[in-house]
Amino acid sequence: MRPTFLTRLVNGELFDPIVYIRILNQRQALMLDCGRFFDLSNHELMLVEHLFISHAHMDHFMGFDQVLRVILHRQTPLNVYGPPEIRRQVLAKLGAYTWNLTREYALEIRIHEVAPGCITTTVARASDGFAPSWTGVRERSGEELVKTLWYTVEAVELDHKTPCLGFVVKEAFHINIRGDKLGPLGYASGPWLGMLKAAIKSGRTMDIPVRTMQGTRLIDSEQLARELVIVSPGQKITYLTDIRYCEANLERLTPLAKDTDVLFIETFYPDEMREEAHRKGHLTARQAGEIARELGAKRVQAMHISPRYHDRREVVLDELKQLISAPK
Ligand SMILES: [Zn+2]
Ligand SMILES: [Zn+2]
Repeated sequence: MRPTFLTRLVNGELFDPIVYIRILNQRQALMLDCGRFFDLSNHELMLVEHLFISHAHMDHFMGFDQVLRVILHRQTPLNVYGPPEIRRQVLAKLGAYTWNLTREYALEIRIHEVAPGCITTTVARASDGFAPSWTGVRERSGEELVKTLWYTVEAVELDHKTPCLGFVVKEAFHINIRGDKLGPLGYASGPWLGMLKAAIKSGRTMDIPVRTMQGTRLIDSEQLARELVIVSPGQKITYLTDIRYCEANLERLTPLAKDTDVLFIETFYPDEMREEAHRKGHLTARQAGEIARELGAKRVQAMHISPRYHDRREVVLDELKQLISAPK
């Protein structure tokens, strides 16, 4: 089965945590955090429609300029989500440059400031030199930030001695097309398969122009679903970084991230640095392992190891491994 989300921890375990998620068969991608990076191509950055910033410490936000520079000529907007203050912080970055040559550019930055219960959106356009031109507030149902046919993204506000968002990217259900059935039924693969998936995802019934051996034929999507489709549970990906290990954080994140398929989680220090971790609002590897067990995470990816342990990363990684592989 091909998953819908192709995930990549761009900087590996040691450096600024960034997760890039390509949405399969769609020309789009999501980016979780945006510190310093070298290993994302211009093509990959051009696909980013939604950029999620957990908090604006430099190691999570300084790459914003790199993204902006690549997408400046783009027609489609960039949505940026972050905790309270993100509006001021993005506008401050945009305000740091001279924009006298961008009057003809179509790029629009939509800044979404996420607070419990509501999202405040500000629009800044290249054609106006990125002066903020529109602001609106919408109520937020539950933890949801973005909902499309293919995925939803939810966020919960956690404590890092400053508000820090944890993110969950989910696919409601997964559609597998039975390729082995196409030939025997006289069908040939083509863009109509994407239309069929979209119809099923949206819960609508419609006639699909199917490529067959005898030319194009309109066939009802329900019939095609019965013939070709296997539905399975969707993927769930959780991203947690820069959070304090405390009851309040655990209570807030657990309902959202329970039963996650892939957990990206910071392992900033080994447990011998527990007090320092608490003071700085970070997790130790042992605490990350405890969270992973609590969430029932099927796969755990360590990230954001403190520079102090870069030459001894096994200390941190072994601690995490021991905890998640221990019997419950
Ligand atoms: Zn950090
Ligand atoms: Zn931080």
